[in-house]
Amino acid sequence: MRFAEVIGHNEIGVRLRAGAQSGRVAHAQLFDGPEGSGTMALALAYAQYLHCTDSSELDSCGICSSCKSYQTLQHPDLHWSFPFFKKEGSEQSTSQPFQAAWRERMLKGPYFGQEEWLQAIGADKKQLFISVNEALEINRKLGLKSFQGGWKILILWLPEAMRVDTANKMLKLIEEPTKGTVMLFVSEHFDQLLATIRSRVQTIRIPRLSDLEAQEALSTHFSLEPELAEQWAHVFEGNLAAALRLRETSDGGSDHALFAQWMRACFAKDSPTILQLSEEFTKPGREAMKQFLAYSMHMVRQCIVGNYGAQELVRLTQEEQEFAQKFAPFIHHGNVLKLHELLEKAHGDIAGNVNGRLVFLDLSVQVNILLRATT
Ligand SMILES: [Zn+2]
Repeated sequence: MRFAEVIGHNEIGVRLRAGAQSGRVAHAQLFDGPEGSGTMALALAYAQYLHCTDSSELDSCGICSSCKSYQTLQHPDLHWSFPFFKKEGSEQSTSQPFQAAWRERMLKGPYFGQEEWLQAIGADKKQLFISVNEALEINRKLGLKSFQGGWKILILWLPEAMRVDTANKMLKLIEEPTKGTVMLFVSEHFDQLLATIRSRVQTIRIPRLSDLEAQEALSTHFSLEPELAEQWAHVFEGNLAAALRLRETSDGGSDHALFAQWMRACFAKDSPTILQLSEEFTKPGREAMKQFLAYSMHMVRQCIVGNYGAQELVRLTQEEQEFAQKFAPFIHHGNVLKLHELLEKAHGDIAGNVNGRLVFLDLSVQVNILLRATT
């Protein structure tokens, strides 16, 4: 990955390259930023830049043999570590059995979060960690001579998954690194990182992407419809991983059916139906619930756009339009902001692991009141 492919963070890129060009490369660096902000993209672009044999001030060249091996993530002096679980029957728990899955996941793009990784290795609900054996293995690998004579680079994702015993095995390496070693730690939760690690690394803070940066990236790099790109960038607060997650599971059709039934039931205060719909809402899981709420916000906004006569701006399927025509009169300036706010809050609650059924039922009561409000 070249710096040109990293979304946003231009100034950080400039600083990293300037440091590398003047030979100031700290041996242990921490790229810390929220999920979906592009911390891994930056670390990867930086590693490729350090290994590139024909880099310029602006970027790695993209065509030298070193850059080429980055395209398939097969550079012999680039090492990976990440949280994993102990496979049954395996004697030593290291990341080795998961390296292929990791490469495959990374090749799909570095904008992903823990949920994608759990899914990629079929670790649903398993506790992931970085073991002591893994730390020993890292020590061994980085203790070897570099294959190509340049930097030996380790990219370690989520150092906050290291427990004290693991971190202790890493300390010597961080404090007295073997020659030519660069360790790039990529974290999401600086506050959960052990103080012993925190105090020994050079930290680079990566801010979240702005709504506009995320929106542009979603529509140009990930070919999302401009309307959805804008909405999702806002809803997910610039978190590209979350937006791409939603795209993966998106299924507008069933969301629409549920939304239409739900709004009718809320309006009629039809409690048995609302109860029944709460099952439908929660059953497919947390990601689908978030998706449904994002879809609901989209529908509410579309209704208000239509109400203000800007029909050409309305982006709805035929089926949705028919529903919106009947539903739109109940959405007006007196309730639209509050409605949108409630949906956004529910979205946040779901993301924060609040019980889906409770969120849905509570929301339904409030939606009923809002839909009944006349001004
Ligand atoms: Zn190159």
